This record gives sequence, structure tokens and C-alpha cells, in this order.
Amino acid sequence: NTLQIAMGREPTASLDGMDELAQLDAIMHQMSSELASTRHRERSLIDNAAQIICSLSDVYAILDVNPAIEKMLGYKPESVQGTMVQALFHPQDREEAYEHLQRSKASEAEVNFVVRMRTQGGTYRYTEWTARWSAEDKNVFCIVQDISERKEAEKLRQEVIAMVSHDLRAPLTSLNISLGMVVEGVLGQLTERGVKILTRAQNSVIALIGMINDLLDLERIESGAFQLAYQPTESKKLLQEAVDMVAAQAEQRGIRIESSGDNLIASMDSDRVQRVLVNLIGNAIKFSPPGGKIFISSFKCTVGDNKGIEFRITDQGPGIPKDKLDLVFEKFQQVGTGSEGEKKGSGLGLAIAKAIVEAHNGAIGADSREGHGTTFWFRLPDEVRTRESVRSAN
Ligand code: ADP
Repeated sequence: NTLQIAMGREPTASLDGMDELAQLDAIMHQMSSELASTRHRERSLIDNAAQIICSLSDVYAILDVNPAIEKMLGYKPESVQGTMVQALFHPQDREEAYEHLQRSKASEAEVNFVVRMRTQGGTYRYTEWTARWSAEDKNVFCIVQDISERKEAEKLRQEVIAMVSHDLRAPLTSLNISLGMVVEGVLGQLTERGVKILTRAQNSVIALIGMINDLLDLERIESGAFQLAYQPTESKKLLQEAVDMVAAQAEQRGIRIESSGDNLIASMDSDRVQRVLVNLIGNAIKFSPPGGKIFISSFKCTVGDNKGIEFRITDQGPGIPKDKLDLVFEKFQQVGTGSEGEKKGSGLGLAIAKAIVEAHNGAIGADSREGHGTTFWFRLPDEVRTRESVRSAN
């Protein structure tokens, strides 16, 4: 029985009796059945995986492959064993994929790449490969995932974005210019009523352009296709500039903005942080009762293990229910009761603010008690220096 097990076969019938040999034989049987069930479990894990799992020889011939290849590409596993794997790649992708495989052999590190693979029906699927060379086995072990749907969705998204920016934004921009000219009387004098109606139309067009710009910006930020332009920034100056930008809006509603806190210098993308501040103060104005007060401040804080800067914007508005506090940072979310402030928005501002703060490795959040106003805060990590310490360093 020991020899049978060593050769990978089932042991024959058990020995009768209670002596030492019989006991040893019983242990052998138990060991054999444990091995068989472990082997079965491992094999079924591989057989039932949704990804292709395969091993390649050192010249990239397919040695072993699980049944997932049939579901993904239509080939029976036996029919591709021994085939050079490059033969299954799109001719345009072959060279690059070969270089990636070579790279995996050179480093023993995990290598990832995307390659189009031919199906039995002659079409192609986008697949993502993770390959690792085992020097001990002299094989490349690979896991292959079908990402065609992801690629398709990405392509569609790109097309929608291109459509939105070319086919919607451009005509709206020229409509805005034309409406502006008519309202200003460049093309002849309008009646007072005419000016009123066209001004309202122009404001709607401007709001639409703003929304499209927000959508495109959010897409750019989320896809990582933008770089932060870090520069040392004075917090007081930044707050004052943001307040100046919304001053007219605040004045119109008789709202006072009070600022306090330390003047700190921190490294950040000041234009983009400015945008976050303008959005948060703008929201505070929109949701404040007429004649209300808004408090804004900046001070030192800690972000994770780092020193940082925190900005706070507090209003005396209706507040946000506790269970909706996280929701407001999601796209197109408006959580209130359809107040006037809400109607003017698109639900994109806070999503953009969050994306900008997180691109800085910072954090953003809100505290609120319904009926008692809201405080929005965000923290950016940095070696914060006070104005005095900068002066003495200079
Ligand atoms: P918008 O203001 O354009 O609708 P935002 O993303 O800036 O979009 O805000 C999302 C929602 O969060 C708002 O519609 C509102 O329901 C809620 N909200 C934001 N700021 C405040 C605030 N200061 N007070 C009360 N609710 C707020």
C-alpha cells in the first residue's frame, strides 16, 4: 500500500487485525483519502474559476489550461495544449505581449498586460493577463481575465464625453454669445419684456454650460487625467479670494461671512482648492436663511500621520439629516426638501470637491444637526508652516 500511494494510486483493501502493521495500514488509507480530497478540492477550484488559469513552457507553449478557456474563447482545453500561446493573440498585439512574457522571465516579478485574443469563431476578446515565471518549475503561470465588457463601457463613456463636449457645449456657447448680443441691443433695441425673457433664457444656457463643464471636469478628475499643480499657498489669502468670488451672491441675500483662524502656508493646488472653497461657501449661501451668518476658518490639524491644514465652513441653514451626510458627496445627489437653493444646483459640486480633496490625499466631510446648520470641512495633508516660521526660515 505504501508503494501504491507513492505511485499516486489508490491503496488496495485494508489489512485486518489490530497489530502494528494493520494500524500503519489504516493510517496510510486515511492519508491517501485526505490527499485525494485535497487534490479534488484544488482541481475543482481551478476547473470552476471564471478566469483562464494556465501554465506555459519556457518558450510559451501551453502546457495545461482550465476549462474556462472554452467559455471565454470557445476552445476545448485539450485542443490548445502544446499550441504556442502567441498564435492565439491578435497579430498586432503579439510582439508587445511577447516582450511582457520575456520581462516576466527576467524578473520573476508579476507582470500585467492587456492583449486581444482570438476566439474559435474568429472574433477577438480583450483579455488582461497576470503572468509570473517560476524558476523552479521553468514555467510561466498565468491568470487571464476577459475585460471586453469593461473596454466596451470605457469606449462608450469616451464617446459620450466627446459628444457632450463637441455637440452640446460648442452650440450652447455660441447660443450664449448670440443671446448676450441680442440682450445688449447690438442687433437692435428690445422691449423691456423682451430683455427680461431673453436674460432668463441666457441664464438657463449659462447654467447648462456650467453643468456640462462640471461633468467634464469630474470625468477628467476621476479618470486621473489631470495633474495637481502644487504651490505654497497662504490660507487667509485663499479664503479671502473665495469670499470675494461669492460676495455679490451673499450681498444679494443679506448674508454676512465672517472668517477667523490662523494664517498658514501649505502646499496645494491653489486654483482647485479655491474651487472647493467657492463651492462650499456658495452652498452655504444658497442654504442660509436671508440675513444669516456664515463662519469660515482655517487652522492646523493632523491628517493620518501627517500635519495638515483644515478648512471649515459653517452655515445657519436647515442642516442635513445624519443618514444623508455621506450621500451629499455622491454625483447628482440632492437630499433636502426641494428648497430654492437646491433647485438651482445640479448635485455635482460636492462630488467635484471630494474628488479634488482626495486627489490631494485629503479628506472631506460634513457635520450637521437638522435645523441647526451645517459645517462642511476638509483637510489637506502638508508640512504646515505659520507665517512667522516662514519668515524666520527666510
Ligand atoms: P448642488 O448644490 O448643485 O445641488 P452639491 O453637490 O453642491 O450640488 O450639493 C448636493 C446637495 O447637498 C444639495 O443639493 C443639498 O441637498 C445638500 N447640501 C449641500 N450643501 C448644503 C448646505 N450647506 N446645507 C444644506 N444642504 C446642503
